[in-house]
Amino acid sequence: MSVRVRIAPSPTGNLHIGTARTAVFNWLYARRQGGTFILRVEDTDRERSKDEYTQNILEGLAWLGINFDEGPFFQTQRTDRYVATVEKLLAEKKAYFCYCTEAELEAMREVQKANKQAPRYDNRHRYLTDEQRQAFENEGRRPVIRFIIEEPRAIAWDDLVRGTVSWSSSDLGGDMVIARVDEQGKIGLPLYNFAVVVDDIDMQITQVIRGEDHIANTAKQLLIYEALGETPPQFGHTPLILNQQGAKISKRDGATSVWEFRNMGYIPEAFNNYMALLGWSPNEGKELFSLQEAAQIFSFDRVNKAGAKFDWDKLNWINSQYLHSLPTEDVCDRLTPFLQDAGYDLQTVDRQWLLDLTKLIAPSLTVLTDAATISKFFFVDFEDYTDEARETLKGEAIVGIINALIEELKDLAELDTDIAGEVIKTVTKSQGVKKGVVMKSLRAALTGDLHGPEILPSLVLLHRKGLALPRLQRAINSLK
Ligand code: GLU
Repeated sequence: MSVRVRIAPSPTGNLHIGTARTAVFNWLYARRQGGTFILRVEDTDRERSKDEYTQNILEGLAWLGINFDEGPFFQTQRTDRYVATVEKLLAEKKAYFCYCTEAELEAMREVQKANKQAPRYDNRHRYLTDEQRQAFENEGRRPVIRFIIEEPRAIAWDDLVRGTVSWSSSDLGGDMVIARVDEQGKIGLPLYNFAVVVDDIDMQITQVIRGEDHIANTAKQLLIYEALGETPPQFGHTPLILNQQGAKISKRDGATSVWEFRNMGYIPEAFNNYMALLGWSPNEGKELFSLQEAAQIFSFDRVNKAGAKFDWDKLNWINSQYLHSLPTEDVCDRLTPFLQDAGYDLQTVDRQWLLDLTKLIAPSLTVLTDAATISKFFFVDFEDYTDEARETLKGEAIVGIINALIEELKDLAELDTDIAGEVIKTVTKSQGVKKGVVMKSLRAALTGDLHGPEILPSLVLLHRKGLALPRLQRAINSLK
């Protein structure tokens, strides 16, 4: 049977790194096995689902380059299938109407709490007579539909990641709600654990690969497969993504949505590479690879059971490795939007200027947003000199050096790094100072700082933008 796997995000938030990492594992497995990768949007929670989140999920997957072969399918468009399946279970007495009110359920939980028992539904409406049902109906109660969970019994499966997993049906919280009834008394939208089984059956899913937080759901879902007389798929539960303290990663750890990582300047190839390493390791211990390369060797026996700690340093290292090895043209295209977002006016510079800037700063980039910080002085006049730069500008030879630089540069229409080198040499000689002093003075005057990209190519770029002379003049003025 050919492999069919899926990613099934709920559009109740932006594409989460956990979902994206699950998508990566599914995608790798599908590609490795020559199988099919399906996208299903689990939008049955009408209150919390939003179109903008669906959009964000689709755009996020596209940005990552995780293409799917079928879908997106939407659960809200499959209601008929769920209703028909609920009716089948009702007819076979594997499910029933439960009329408990919220207050009754609450009272039940209170008693359980007082007795130090885990909260559960006590199955009290499992065997209502027709008369009892009618009486509740007459009271105007709106029922839910519950699926019968026989107790006690063991539920076990051979997990692709965790080996044998077993669960007791007594730990599933009692008969579970699988669907609600709408105001007209008709069977309405189903609940997650039920809809997922109907979908996975209809879509002929062969392996369900998802986060470890779904293990108890798998136990419930296996009972539904059995009740429907269907062979379940294989299951594989991937480790959760944890923060450095070992807790599930959350917003407080910096970022959780793929879009946030994109906005922070991570590039998709690097981010995919890092996500693949969150819980999986290729046997040669390789750390840098494309998803296509990983797909050649992906297998579940190298997926860890233990939680995967999110490591910013590692992600940063991987991102910088990619940025340092991509062609200049490519890096230039990728960082341009970040310069625009920073509000820099790119109308006044041409492509060649941007390429030269990229070449200059690319080796210092960890994330694309660094480009905006590092190149700020090319676009915006710095507010003030740093203390160190100010100190440098207090040097006794400074006026002579800067004036000499202005003299040398003012009639130069064309400047490149060779000519700039000559200019420095000339000024060094004429002022009788060390070359280092001229370079440092130049840097302080041009950038307001003593740290930054190489100064000669920076001078060239500033000169081409018509900013070198005004900055040198500004330094002179600041000395008065
Ligand atoms: N909608 C579920 C989620 O986003 C999908 C779980 C599954 O893959 O079955 O967690």
